[in-house]
Amino acid sequence: METNTTWDVIVVGGGPAGMIAAGKAAENGAHVLLVEKNESLGKKLLITGGGRCNVTNSEFDIRKFLERFKDDGKFLFSTFSQHSNKDSLDFFHKRGMETKVENELRTFPVSNRSQSVLDVLVQYMREGGVEVLSNSPVTGIAVEDKQVMGVTLKGKKVLHAKKVIIATGGASAPHTGSTGDGFAWLKEIGHTIITPTPSLVPIAIKDKWIESLAGISLTDIKISVFQNSKKQFFKKGKILFTHVGVSGPTILNMSRDIGDLLKYGPVTIYLDILPSEDNGTLNTKLQELFKEHDKKKFRNAITNLVPTKLAPIIVDLSLIDPEKECNSVTREERIRLINLLKGIPMEADCLLGADKAIITSGGVLLDEVDFKTMSSRLFPNLYLVGDILNIDRPSGGFSLQLCWSTGYVAGKSASESL
Ligand SMILES: Cc1cc2nc3c(=O)[nH]c(=O)nc-3n(C[C@H](O)[C@H](O)[C@H](O)COP(=O)(O)OP(=O)(O)OC[C@H]3O[C@@H](n4cnc5c(N)ncnc54)[C@H](O)[C@@H]3O)c2cc1C
Repeated sequence: METNTTWDVIVVGGGPAGMIAAGKAAENGAHVLLVEKNESLGKKLLITGGGRCNVTNSEFDIRKFLERFKDDGKFLFSTFSQHSNKDSLDFFHKRGMETKVENELRTFPVSNRSQSVLDVLVQYMREGGVEVLSNSPVTGIAVEDKQVMGVTLKGKKVLHAKKVIIATGGASAPHTGSTGDGFAWLKEIGHTIITPTPSLVPIAIKDKWIESLAGISLTDIKISVFQNSKKQFFKKGKILFTHVGVSGPTILNMSRDIGDLLKYGPVTIYLDILPSEDNGTLNTKLQELFKEHDKKKFRNAITNLVPTKLAPIIVDLSLIDPEKECNSVTREERIRLINLLKGIPMEADCLLGADKAIITSGGVLLDEVDFKTMSSRLFPNLYLVGDILNIDRPSGGFSLQLCWSTGYVAGKSASESL
């Protein structure tokens, strides 16, 4: 690679946003260099969706789709009108990657492998002739006379470009390369950066019994969050137990609000593991169960109602003698058991850190970005895409779609205005 070349477009960061931006600019005929500090591209992309990559969300009503970004959604209309989730799916389908839609319209490659997504992006960049410089940490954005000239590498070597696209990601899962480097450079040249904090993150739980459930998940349960004995909010969905706490899409989506409550005091999470049964029907069910298994020990009979691994915990928390025969469980004990099944209490400890977070919230202030082009309002030849932007979003394929839409539009605008 010639070092005194002036590239049409330099993209910093070989994650999903950077790769699609580079590919699009090159498809439009631009001479593109992608600079990545890791030895390979898409390290984080490969671990998305547990290795299966929830590549987007198939809610095709754009207004409804953007509602999921809360207040930040209004910034994205012009970006999504140029490249929507439907356009991204067409992009992948045309290149031979079939997809399937699962729970809550989460969309995955049929192969169940994130590698399929990476393969499409790498092939797209190859077709356009994108040059890739890996193992090359960028150390800053080169600015002269209020103009972006290129980027600086270690040793102060400047790579010159007419346009620069910053796609260095946020600060979650830093072992994948997303260490928030771009935030520091952008701040240095005058952009406002909202301090990144972990978002969509598992929650540590104080109760020790959690450990024995590590690896099990409960679906279709109701998760209610209380503070000062007052219900704050609830969601229905799935919970996944880990060695230290709870995770899974529903918990991740509740994590930010739980984190906010924890700043004010203790938070208790109640799990209703039988949300479709009201207390009356559950009472009848338990009476029938205890009648059918009247000579059985309580600890054994309860496994007919709750998952085997959860049973000893229910027995413990119910304070009913585990060895007691079902026919001698009292009415008072049965009512206590019903209340427990409708609300297993857990004390939230804290949100786990950036290393465990799916995304960080925070990043470049949205008012400083022109979303029609994804260019900076401070430096018109600088483009900002993907996780570097201060956009709040839930789990469910929304983060990657943000990368596809912002990356595509940046690559297109950067190459069209050369
Ligand atoms: C465990 C996990 C699972 C996830 N699952 C999903 C999912 O299923 N669906 C979904 O929509 N989202 C998911 N996400 C979120 C999604 O991965 C991110 O939103 C997405 O990767 C952001 O893409 P990006 O291109 O903006 O940045 P990144 O993917 O973070 O890529 C940034 C790239 O820039 C490089 N870089 C950083 N600094 C420098 C530097 N100084 N010089 C050169 N290169 C640099 C990094 O090495 C990296 O390759 C998940 C995240 C995690 C952590």
